[in-house]
Amino acid sequence: MYIRMKKHYCLECGLEIKYGRPDKKYCCPKCKDTYHNRISMDKRKYIRKVNEAIMKNYRILSSLLDENVKSIDMIDIVNLGYIPSILTSCTRRRGRMDDCACFDIKFKMSPTRIHCIEKIEKL
Ligand SMILES: [Zn+2]
Repeated sequence: MYIRMKKHYCLECGLEIKYGRPDKKYCCPKCKDTYHNRISMDKRKYIRKVNEAIMKNYRILSSLLDENVKSIDMIDIVNLGYIPSILTSCTRRRGRMDDCACFDIKFKMSPTRIHCIEKIEKL
């Protein structure tokens, strides 16, 4: 039996791990399962949150196109709930506006404005 010289604590419950391999992370199999279930739940929640944000951005851009709006101030689109950092693609252009897209809607983006909003005809 290996007896630890340095104190280690269970990643899930925080209790001291007194026996086992020096790299043991959990005090028991139940803590190991609980820890891994929680991490995968957090990842799923994060993915769901990003998906919801990107679909909201897409709905906002689509409704602008429906109203024939091709250009909008960043502050106005953000007030509609748009999140500028959530994109499906973005190509940085040195000294020019970024070429961005949200699925099949492309646009040019500066820190203060979104321009040239249009549907990509062929993906
Ligand atoms: Zn534990």
